[in-house]
Amino acid sequence: MSSKLIIDLTKLHEDETTEINSELDPKKIEVEFDDLHYKSPLRVHGYLEKMPEVLIFKGELSGVADKICGRCLEELPYDIKERFDFAFEIKGKTEIDVTDDLREMMILAHPFTFLCREDCKGLCAGCGVNLNLEACKCNK
Ligand SMILES: [Zn+2]
Ligand SMILES: [Zn+2]
Repeated sequence: MSSKLIIDLTKLHEDETTEINSELDPKKIEVEFDDLHYKSPLRVHGYLEKMPEVLIFKGELSGVADKICGRCLEELPYDIKERFDFAFEIKGKTEIDVTDDLREMMILAHPFTFLCREDCKGLCAGCGVNLNLEACKCNK
């Protein structure tokens, strides 16, 4: 698992599509969150197309994670799948580091809070029980 994805432009032929398969370490590229823990590498699968001045990079990021509900703190398995479609200026360059673009995309895709379900009842502020599973034990 690597901490960077760098595309070597000297190995690509113009007007040819090249398939790319890679894995990034979610911890090293800093796409883990308090409420999103990766259980697999972040897999990158895509296609590169080199043109005279532009490199097109299309594909999908995927992985397996646990996400944590923002209300009841329950952990839920979560399949990550994000499509991307980038274009990089390559004039005068021999390599392109796409790590920052992939990281930024994963950060933007992260919602402010996850919920296990839309009507999650959360935890009781008094007794702390998960109100989806148990009745409140506070004295009324
Ligand atoms: Zn919940
Ligand atoms: Zn309660």
